[in-house]
Amino acid sequence: MVGDVPVGDGAPITVQSMTTTKTADVEGTLQQIYDLAMAGCDIVRCTCNEIEAAEGLARIVPRSPVPIVADIHHNHRMALAALEAGVQCLRLNPGNIRKPEHIKTVARDAKDRGVPIRIGVNGGWRHPDLYRKYGDRVTPEAMVESAQMELAYFDEVGFDDVKISVKASSVPLMVEAYRQLADTVDHPLHLGVTEAGPVPGGLIKATAGIATLLAEGIGDTIRYSLTADPVEEARAGRALLESLGLRERRNIDLIACPSCGRAEIDVIEVAQQAQAAFGDRDLPLQVAVMGCVVNGPGEARDADLGIAAGNKRGHLFVRGQNVAVVPEEEMVDALVEWAEYINDHGVEAALERARATREAARRAAASDREDLLRAQGSDANRSEQRVELIRELS
Ligand code: SF4
Repeated sequence: MVGDVPVGDGAPITVQSMTTTKTADVEGTLQQIYDLAMAGCDIVRCTCNEIEAAEGLARIVPRSPVPIVADIHHNHRMALAALEAGVQCLRLNPGNIRKPEHIKTVARDAKDRGVPIRIGVNGGWRHPDLYRKYGDRVTPEAMVESAQMELAYFDEVGFDDVKISVKASSVPLMVEAYRQLADTVDHPLHLGVTEAGPVPGGLIKATAGIATLLAEGIGDTIRYSLTADPVEEARAGRALLESLGLRERRNIDLIACPSCGRAEIDVIEVAQQAQAAFGDRDLPLQVAVMGCVVNGPGEARDADLGIAAGNKRGHLFVRGQNVAVVPEEEMVDALVEWAEYINDHGVEAALERARATREAARRAAASDREDLLRAQGSDANRSEQRVELIRELS
C-alpha cells in the first residue's frame, strides 16, 4: 500500500508522476498535485533534496488528494526527514546512497512507520563495484544486481515492503532489465523509460517500453518521464492503461477517422476542437468524429456517440443510429451536449430523446450519403484512376 492506494498483487495498475515545483513551495506544489490527480494520477512523487523540501512535505502531505512519494538522492538524512514529514513512500536510488549503515537506518525507520520504499535503479547510476564487474557498461544484469544489493541490505533489517524499478532511457535495455527482474523477485514493479524526452518521441519511447511489459503481465505501477508538463505524463499514463483495458475509462475516448478524399470537413481541426472542448471532463464515453456520412456512422457504429459530416451539416449518431442533424459550425457543441446527456441518462434515454427526430435524421443522412456518392462516385480517393495511369506508364 502506498497510503490508501494498493500496488501489486493484482491491484489495478496505477499511474504516477512527479511534481516540477520546488517542494518548499507548498501552495505551488499542492496546485500541481491537484492538477495531476485531476488528470488521472494515483500517486505523486516530490523531490526531497533539502531540509526546506522536507518541511514543505510536512505541510503538503496532509492536504494532498493522493499519496506522496519522497524522491531521495545522496543524503539519507533527507529520507529520514521525509519519513518524519509523513510521506506514504520513499524512493531511494541505490547508486546514490551507498553506505550500508545509512541504507539500513532508513529501512529500519520505514519499517517502524509502515512506509514502503521503491528501490529506483536508474541505468545511469550504479554502485562502483557493478561498474567494475560489468566493464563500465549498463546492462540489464547490472541493473538487476543493483536492485538485489539494495534488497539484501533491507533483508538484514527484516524490511520487505518494497517495489522496484530498473529504468533506462533505452527501451530495449529497460524491457530486458524488467524481464530479468520479474524472473528474479516477487516485489511489485514500477515501470518507466527514464528521460524519455519531449513529445512525440518521448511519448512513443515510453509507450513502447511500458506497453510491451504490461502486455507480458509485468508491471504494477507506471510513470511516463516526459520533458513536458507533468499533467501530460499523467494523461498519457492513464490513456495507456485505459486503451489496454487495464483501468476503467474516466474521460472521453475520442476516436476520429484518418480522413480521405471523401471528407466533408477538416477532420483534424474538428477532432482537435472536440478534444479541447472535452478536456479532462469526467465523461467516460467513446466519441467519434468522422469525415463523411458515407462511411462514418458505419465505421464508428460501436462508439457511444459520433458525428459525421455531409453537405455542410453534421449528422449525429448514437451507437450507429442517426439521432439529429446540426449545422456544421455547431458540430462540436452538439457533441458535448449529447455526451453530457448520455453520461447523465444513458444511451437508451438518448435514443428515446431523439424519438421525434430520428426518422428525419436518418433520411437526411441517407440523402446526403447519396448526394456524396453521386458527386464523388464510389472511388472518392481516385485510387482506380491512379492505378490506370500507373499501368499506362508501365
Ligand atoms: S470514408 Fe469518410 S469516414 Fe472514412 S476515412 Fe474517409 S472521410 Fe473518414
